[in-house]
Amino acid sequence: MTESVPMATIPLFRDNPYLRSAEATVLAVNDRGGIVVDRSVFYPTGGGQPGDTGVLLLADGRALAIAATVKGEAPDEIVLVPAAGQALPAVGDAVEMRLDWERRHRHMRMHSCMHLLSALLPYPVTGGQVAADKGRLDFDMGQAPPDKAELTDALNALVAADDAVTTEWITDAELAAKPELVKTMAVKPPSGSGRVRLVRIAGRDLQPCGGTHVAHTGEIGPVVVAKMESKGRQNRRVTIAFAEPGEGAA
Ligand SMILES: [Zn+2]
Repeated sequence: MTESVPMATIPLFRDNPYLRSAEATVLAVNDRGGIVVDRSVFYPTGGGQPGDTGVLLLADGRALAIAATVKGEAPDEIVLVPAAGQALPAVGDAVEMRLDWERRHRHMRMHSCMHLLSALLPYPVTGGQVAADKGRLDFDMGQAPPDKAELTDALNALVAADDAVTTEWITDAELAAKPELVKTMAVKPPSGSGRVRLVRIAGRDLQPCGGTHVAHTGEIGPVVVAKMESKGRQNRRVTIAFAEPGEGAA
C-alpha cells in the first residue's frame, strides 16, 4: 500500500437528494479501479440502502458505466466503481456524474416507507434492507404479529397524509442523551464527525439516518405488506412492496 492523504468527497445527495447530475473532479483512482471524486450525487452503499449506479461522462466524450458506489477507506471518501473492462479517467480529470435516477428514486421512496413502518411498529429494529422493488425491517416484537391487511391500510394512510420529510442536525452528545431516538440496533447512526443527522417525518417519526428520502410521504405511492415472517423466537421480518401495477416485479 502506498501512503495516501485521506480524501473527502462532498456528499451532494445529503442536502439535495433530488440532484440527478453534477460535475466533479477525479481525486484518485484506487488500485481496484474505483474512482474517488471530490463531490458526489451517487449515494454509497450504507444504512441498508444500496449504492447508486449510473454513468460518468468523461471530458473526451466517453461514457463510463458505474456499477456500484461504496464508501472508501477514509470516512468521507466516496468511490464510484465502474463496470469491468472500461478505460479509467486520470486524476484531475473533470467528469459529469449522471444517476440512474429511476432506481435511486425507488430507493428514496422505499427507504422513506421504512421510516413510516418503524413509526407504526414501535419495536426495536434489528435489521433492514431497501431495494428498488421492496424493503424490509426486522423487529424484535416478542408477541403476535400485526395483521397484514391492517398494517397495509395503516401504512397507506400515512403515505396519503403526505407529511413533510425534513432533516436536522444534533451533536453526538445530544444524541447520547436521547437514546430513545435510536430504533435501529443493527445499523449504527452515522456518527464520529461530532454531529448526527436526524430525519423527521412531521408528527410521525424522528430518527438518525444518513440515507436519501423523498420530500413528502405521498411521493412513496401505494404500498402493500408483502410478507410477514418469523426470524427466530423474537424477530419478525416485515417486507413491503410497491403496489402499483407493473411495479414490484423482478
Ligand atoms: Zn432514512
